[in-house]
Amino acid sequence: MEGSLYSVRMRASKRGCHVCGAERIVAESEVVKLTADLTRRALHAGNGKPDEVHCTVERVAAEAISYFRLPDITINRVDDYREGRDLAEQLMVKAGVSQAVAGQAVSLLARGAGPDGQVMRGAVIMDMASGQRLEEVPARGVRVSRMDLTSNCRAELEPLLSGAGLGHRRVIEALTLAGKVMRAPGIVAELCWSDDPLYTTGYVAAPQLGYQRISALKEPGDPLGGRVLFVDSRLVDLKELVDYLELRPVLFETIGQILPAQDRGTDHA
Ligand code: AMP
Repeated sequence: MEGSLYSVRMRASKRGCHVCGAERIVAESEVVKLTADLTRRALHAGNGKPDEVHCTVERVAAEAISYFRLPDITINRVDDYREGRDLAEQLMVKAGVSQAVAGQAVSLLARGAGPDGQVMRGAVIMDMASGQRLEEVPARGVRVSRMDLTSNCRAELEPLLSGAGLGHRRVIEALTLAGKVMRAPGIVAELCWSDDPLYTTGYVAAPQLGYQRISALKEPGDPLGGRVLFVDSRLVDLKELVDYLELRPVLFETIGQILPAQDRGTDHA
Protein backbone atom coordinates (compact mmCIF):
# COMPACT_ATOMS: atom_id res chain seq x y z
CA MET A 1 0.00 0.00 0.00
CA GLU A 2 1.54 3.27 -1.06
CA GLY A 3 0.70 6.92 -0.47
CA SER A 4 -1.54 8.07 2.35
CA LEU A 5 -3.61 5.52 4.20
CA TYR A 6 -6.98 6.21 5.77
CA SER A 7 -8.93 4.54 8.54
CA VAL A 8 -12.55 4.24 7.39
CA ARG A 9 -15.10 3.34 10.04
CA MET A 10 -18.82 2.88 9.67
CA ARG A 11 -21.43 2.49 12.38
CA ALA A 12 -25.17 2.31 11.99
CA SER A 13 -27.85 2.45 14.65
CA LYS A 14 -31.61 2.37 15.03
CA ARG A 15 -33.22 4.23 17.95
CA GLY A 16 -29.81 4.35 19.58
CA CYS A 17 -29.17 0.58 19.25
CA HIS A 18 -26.29 -0.87 17.28
CA VAL A 19 -27.25 -2.23 13.84
CA CYS A 20 -23.90 -2.83 12.16
CA GLY A 21 -20.39 -1.45 11.78
CA ALA A 22 -17.15 -1.94 9.89
CA GLU A 23 -13.52 -0.85 10.07
CA ARG A 24 -10.96 -0.75 7.28
CA ILE A 25 -7.63 0.90 6.44
CA VAL A 26 -7.30 1.71 2.74
CA ALA A 27 -5.37 3.82 0.26
CA GLU A 28 -6.71 7.29 -0.50
CA SER A 29 -7.88 6.12 -3.95
CA GLU A 30 -10.26 3.59 -2.33
CA VAL A 31 -11.86 5.84 0.28
CA VAL A 32 -14.79 7.17 -1.75
CA LYS A 33 -15.87 3.77 -3.07
CA LEU A 34 -15.47 2.16 0.34
CA THR A 35 -17.60 4.75 2.16
CA ALA A 36 -20.32 4.22 -0.48
CA ASP A 37 -20.09 0.42 -0.11
CA LEU A 38 -20.24 0.56 3.69
CA THR A 39 -23.19 2.99 3.63
CA ARG A 40 -25.01 0.64 1.26
CA ARG A 41 -24.23 -2.27 3.56
CA ALA A 42 -25.65 -0.39 6.54
CA LEU A 43 -28.85 0.51 4.68
CA HIS A 44 -29.40 -3.15 3.76
CA ALA A 45 -28.34 -4.74 7.06
CA GLY A 46 -30.24 -7.94 7.85
CA ASN A 47 -31.18 -6.75 11.32
CA GLY A 48 -33.22 -3.62 10.63
CA LYS A 49 -33.10 -0.34 8.68
CA PRO A 50 -30.85 2.06 10.55
CA ASP A 51 -31.97 5.62 11.22
CA GLU A 52 -28.37 6.83 11.53
CA VAL A 53 -25.27 5.83 9.58
CA HIS A 54 -21.91 7.42 10.41
CA CYS A 55 -18.81 7.04 8.28
CA THR A 56 -15.55 8.42 9.68
CA VAL A 57 -12.46 8.89 7.53
CA GLU A 58 -9.13 9.67 9.22
CA ARG A 59 -5.62 9.73 7.85
CA VAL A 60 -3.33 7.18 9.48
CA ALA A 61 0.29 8.13 10.17
CA ALA A 62 2.44 5.56 8.35
CA GLU A 63 4.98 5.41 11.18
CA ALA A 64 2.25 4.45 13.68
CA ILE A 65 1.30 1.23 11.85
CA SER A 66 2.28 -2.19 13.24
CA TYR A 67 2.60 -5.03 10.70
CA PHE A 68 1.71 -8.58 11.72
CA ARG A 69 0.95 -12.10 10.42
CA LEU A 70 -2.67 -13.30 10.42
CA PRO A 71 -3.65 -16.14 12.77
CA ASP A 72 -3.99 -19.72 11.50
CA ILE A 73 -7.57 -20.79 10.75
CA THR A 74 -9.11 -24.03 11.97
CA ILE A 75 -12.61 -24.92 10.74
CA ASN A 76 -14.69 -26.87 13.28
CA ARG A 77 -17.94 -28.38 12.01
CA VAL A 78 -20.61 -29.05 14.60
CA ASP A 79 -24.14 -30.42 14.18
CA ASP A 80 -25.96 -27.61 15.96
CA TYR A 81 -25.42 -24.53 18.10
CA ARG A 82 -25.52 -26.47 21.37
CA GLU A 83 -22.53 -28.53 20.27
CA GLY A 84 -20.94 -25.34 19.00
CA ARG A 85 -21.29 -23.64 22.37
CA ASP A 86 -19.88 -26.71 24.17
CA LEU A 87 -16.90 -26.66 21.86
CA ALA A 88 -16.47 -22.91 22.31
CA GLU A 89 -16.36 -23.41 26.09
CA GLN A 90 -13.77 -26.19 25.74
CA LEU A 91 -11.59 -23.95 23.58
CA MET A 92 -11.89 -21.00 25.97
CA VAL A 93 -10.87 -23.24 28.87
CA LYS A 94 -7.91 -24.54 26.87
CA ALA A 95 -6.85 -20.92 26.37
CA GLY A 96 -6.88 -20.26 30.12
CA VAL A 97 -10.43 -19.03 30.86
CA SER A 98 -12.02 -20.67 33.91
CA GLN A 99 -14.79 -23.17 33.12
CA ALA A 100 -17.38 -21.11 35.02
CA VAL A 101 -16.40 -17.89 33.26
CA ALA A 102 -16.50 -19.56 29.82
CA GLY A 103 -20.08 -20.67 30.54
CA GLN A 104 -20.95 -17.21 31.86
CA ALA A 105 -19.68 -15.56 28.67
CA VAL A 106 -21.74 -17.87 26.44
CA SER A 107 -24.89 -17.16 28.51
CA LEU A 108 -24.17 -13.42 28.40
CA LEU A 109 -24.01 -13.28 24.60
CA ALA A 110 -27.02 -15.61 24.34
CA ARG A 111 -29.25 -13.24 26.34
CA GLY A 112 -27.79 -9.98 24.94
CA ALA A 113 -24.79 -8.39 26.65
CA GLY A 114 -26.04 -4.78 26.51
CA PRO A 115 -28.40 -3.10 28.96
CA ASP A 116 -31.91 -4.62 28.69
CA GLY A 117 -30.52 -7.56 26.71
CA GLN A 118 -29.62 -5.49 23.66
CA VAL A 119 -26.73 -6.04 21.30
CA MET A 120 -23.65 -4.01 22.19
CA ARG A 121 -21.79 -1.87 19.66
CA GLY A 122 -18.43 -3.22 20.81
CA ALA A 123 -16.94 -5.98 22.92
CA VAL A 124 -17.23 -6.97 26.56
CA ILE A 125 -13.90 -7.17 28.40
CA MET A 126 -14.07 -9.91 30.99
CA ASP A 127 -11.68 -11.13 33.65
CA MET A 128 -10.82 -14.74 32.81
CA ALA A 129 -10.94 -15.92 36.44
CA SER A 130 -13.71 -13.91 38.11
CA GLY A 131 -15.96 -13.11 35.13
CA GLN A 132 -16.02 -9.45 36.19
CA ARG A 133 -16.85 -7.07 33.33
CA LEU A 134 -14.24 -4.37 32.87
CA GLU A 135 -15.49 -2.27 29.95
CA GLU A 136 -16.50 1.23 30.98
CA VAL A 137 -19.80 1.64 29.11
CA PRO A 138 -21.80 -1.60 28.85
CA ALA A 139 -23.92 -0.42 25.88
CA ARG A 140 -20.88 0.52 23.85
CA GLY A 141 -18.17 -1.85 25.00
CA VAL A 142 -14.77 -1.55 23.35
CA ARG A 143 -14.80 -1.13 19.61
CA VAL A 144 -11.74 -2.74 17.99
CA SER A 145 -10.78 -0.41 15.15
CA ARG A 146 -8.05 0.60 12.72
CA MET A 147 -7.05 -2.78 11.33
CA ASP A 148 -6.95 -4.32 7.86
CA LEU A 149 -4.92 -6.46 5.48
CA THR A 150 -2.35 -5.00 3.10
CA SER A 151 -3.59 -5.20 -0.47
CA ASN A 152 -1.05 -7.96 -1.27
CA CYS A 153 -2.14 -9.97 1.74
CA ARG A 154 -5.81 -9.59 0.74
CA ALA A 155 -5.05 -10.62 -2.85
CA GLU A 156 -3.27 -13.74 -1.58
CA LEU A 157 -5.86 -14.65 1.05
CA GLU A 158 -9.14 -14.19 -0.85
CA PRO A 159 -8.71 -17.06 -3.33
CA LEU A 160 -7.48 -19.39 -0.58
CA LEU A 161 -10.50 -18.63 1.58
CA SER A 162 -12.89 -19.06 -1.36
CA GLY A 163 -11.24 -22.40 -2.13
CA ALA A 164 -11.83 -23.48 1.47
CA GLY A 165 -15.51 -22.44 1.29
CA LEU A 166 -14.86 -19.34 3.38
CA GLY A 167 -15.47 -16.70 0.71
CA HIS A 168 -17.92 -14.65 2.84
CA ARG A 169 -16.60 -11.12 3.53
CA ARG A 170 -17.38 -11.66 7.20
CA VAL A 171 -14.59 -14.24 7.44
CA ILE A 172 -11.87 -11.78 6.45
CA GLU A 173 -13.33 -9.09 8.69
CA ALA A 174 -13.55 -11.39 11.71
CA LEU A 175 -10.10 -12.86 11.09
CA THR A 176 -8.60 -9.38 10.90
CA LEU A 177 -10.33 -8.26 14.08
CA ALA A 178 -9.33 -11.45 15.92
CA GLY A 179 -5.78 -11.05 14.64
CA LYS A 180 -5.55 -7.58 16.14
CA VAL A 181 -7.15 -8.73 19.41
CA MET A 182 -4.72 -11.64 19.75
CA ARG A 183 -1.76 -9.26 19.55
CA ALA A 184 -3.16 -7.12 22.34
CA PRO A 185 -1.26 -6.94 25.62
CA GLY A 186 -2.77 -9.39 28.13
CA ILE A 187 -5.45 -10.99 25.93
CA VAL A 188 -6.16 -14.63 26.73
CA ALA A 189 -9.03 -15.42 24.32
CA GLU A 190 -11.93 -14.00 22.36
CA LEU A 191 -15.45 -15.40 21.85
CA CYS A 192 -17.67 -14.10 19.04
CA TRP A 193 -20.85 -14.76 17.22
CA SER A 194 -22.68 -12.39 14.92
CA ASP A 195 -25.84 -10.43 15.65
CA ASP A 196 -26.94 -11.00 12.04
CA PRO A 197 -29.96 -13.35 12.32
CA LEU A 198 -28.87 -15.14 9.15
CA TYR A 199 -25.22 -15.71 10.11
CA THR A 200 -24.87 -18.43 12.72
CA THR A 201 -21.14 -19.15 12.52
CA GLY A 202 -18.79 -17.80 15.18
CA TYR A 203 -15.37 -18.39 16.63
CA VAL A 204 -13.04 -18.61 19.58
CA ALA A 205 -9.60 -17.10 19.03
CA ALA A 206 -6.61 -17.28 21.31
CA PRO A 207 -2.88 -16.66 20.90
CA GLN A 208 -2.01 -20.37 21.17
CA LEU A 209 -5.14 -21.71 19.37
CA GLY A 210 -5.37 -19.32 16.43
CA TYR A 211 -8.75 -18.56 14.90
CA GLN A 212 -11.08 -21.48 15.65
CA ARG A 213 -14.13 -21.10 13.47
CA ILE A 214 -17.21 -22.94 14.74
CA SER A 215 -19.94 -23.67 12.19
CA ALA A 216 -22.89 -22.93 14.51
CA LEU A 217 -23.03 -20.85 17.69
CA LYS A 218 -26.67 -19.76 17.53
CA GLU A 219 -29.97 -20.73 15.93
CA PRO A 220 -30.96 -19.19 12.57
CA GLY A 221 -33.20 -16.16 13.18
CA ASP A 222 -31.61 -15.22 16.51
CA PRO A 223 -30.82 -11.46 16.38
CA LEU A 224 -28.39 -11.52 19.32
CA GLY A 225 -24.62 -11.77 19.18
CA GLY A 226 -21.51 -10.11 20.49
CA ARG A 227 -17.89 -10.40 21.49
CA VAL A 228 -16.15 -11.13 24.77
CA LEU A 229 -12.43 -10.44 25.18
CA PHE A 230 -10.89 -12.32 28.11
CA VAL A 231 -8.01 -10.86 30.07
CA ASP A 232 -6.09 -11.58 33.24
CA SER A 233 -6.98 -8.32 34.98
CA ARG A 234 -4.08 -8.71 37.45
CA LEU A 235 -1.63 -8.36 34.57
CA VAL A 236 -3.43 -5.90 32.29
CA ASP A 237 -3.31 -2.14 32.20
CA LEU A 238 -6.87 -1.57 31.00
CA LYS A 239 -6.21 1.87 29.51
CA GLU A 240 -3.22 0.57 27.55
CA LEU A 241 -5.31 -2.36 26.29
CA VAL A 242 -8.25 -0.20 25.20
CA ASP A 243 -5.95 2.35 23.53
CA TYR A 244 -4.29 -0.45 21.57
CA LEU A 245 -7.64 -2.01 20.54
CA GLU A 246 -9.32 1.24 19.53
CA LEU A 247 -6.51 3.42 18.28
CA ARG A 248 -3.36 1.59 17.20
CA PRO A 249 -3.35 1.01 13.42
CA VAL A 250 -2.50 -2.60 12.53
CA LEU A 251 -2.02 -4.10 9.08
CA PHE A 252 -1.61 -7.80 8.38
CA GLU A 253 0.96 -8.40 5.67
CA THR A 254 1.31 -12.21 5.86
CA ILE A 255 -1.40 -14.85 5.76
CA GLY A 256 -1.68 -17.69 8.28
CA GLN A 257 -2.35 -21.34 7.48
CA ILE A 258 -5.80 -22.74 6.71
CA LEU A 259 -5.76 -26.04 8.58
CA PRO A 260 -7.86 -29.10 7.56
CA ALA A 261 -11.53 -28.95 8.67
CA GLN A 262 -12.44 -30.96 11.76
CA ASP A 263 -15.84 -32.63 12.26
CA ARG A 264 -16.66 -32.09 15.94
CA GLY A 265 -20.33 -33.07 15.96
CA THR A 266 -21.46 -36.29 17.62
CA ASP A 267 -22.92 -37.40 14.25
CA HIS A 268 -19.36 -37.51 12.93
CA ALA A 269 -17.77 -39.22 15.90
P1 AMP B 1 -20.63 -8.86 13.75
O1 AMP B 1 -19.65 -9.95 13.66
O2 AMP B 1 -20.29 -7.66 12.96
O3 AMP B 1 -22.03 -9.34 13.50
O4 AMP B 1 -20.60 -8.38 15.25
C1 AMP B 1 -21.04 -9.18 16.31
C2 AMP B 1 -20.94 -8.40 17.58
O5 AMP B 1 -19.57 -8.19 17.88
C3 AMP B 1 -21.58 -7.03 17.55
O6 AMP B 1 -22.91 -7.12 17.98
C4 AMP B 1 -20.75 -6.24 18.53
O7 AMP B 1 -21.24 -6.47 19.83
C5 AMP B 1 -19.40 -6.90 18.41
N1 AMP B 1 -18.52 -6.18 17.48
C6 AMP B 1 -18.69 -6.00 16.16
N2 AMP B 1 -17.67 -5.30 15.63
C7 AMP B 1 -16.84 -5.04 16.65
C8 AMP B 1 -15.62 -4.33 16.77
N3 AMP B 1 -15.04 -3.75 15.72
N4 AMP B 1 -15.04 -4.27 17.97
C9 AMP B 1 -15.60 -4.84 19.06
N5 AMP B 1 -16.76 -5.51 19.02
C10 AMP B 1 -17.38 -5.61 17.83
